[in-house]
Amino acid sequence: MKRHNEKQPNLATALAEIYAELDTRIQEKTCSHCTECCRFAQTGRTPMLTAVEAHIAAQAWKATGRRFRKKEDGSCPCLDDLQGRCLIYAARPFGCRSHFCTASGGTPPRRNVADLIRRMEDLDTSFTAPRSLPTVLKSLGAKFSM
Ligand code: SF4
Ligand code: SF4
Repeated sequence: MKRHNEKQPNLATALAEIYAELDTRIQEKTCSHCTECCRFAQTGRTPMLTAVEAHIAAQAWKATGRRFRKKEDGSCPCLDDLQGRCLIYAARPFGCRSHFCTASGGTPPRRNVADLIRRMEDLDTSFTAPRSLPTVLKSLGAKFSM
């Protein structure tokens, strides 16, 4: 039987493949990179993560060496306010990769990505209910003393 840590590279690779496939299905958008969609208090739309996504996002966050800090304005903790960029861009979750505001083309229909969502959920052998991105980072922040 494989130990838990022996499965991590496979999970990371499998998730990366899903993200790569998703990126091929997203049409070119006219995103201005205004970062509004990373400001959940404004949009009312907070990304939900599967357990594997949460693990990979947390690893990426840990690699930044930053401490977890809840934003008073309700924006994503991974958003660098000064530079207006995502600090975990390569590991940003599915919801961030597939969400676009209406002005920039909108979110792709679920039927176009439903198979990828199923594949992602199948990666979670002990699947837990999706959790919000800030909740994931907060709980893992305590774990990793971020
Ligand atoms: S998708 Fe829309 S809200 Fe999000 S960064 Fe691009 S232009 Fe801004
Ligand atoms: S993870 Fe990155 S792309 Fe997603 S909401 Fe946070 S800052 Fe924005």
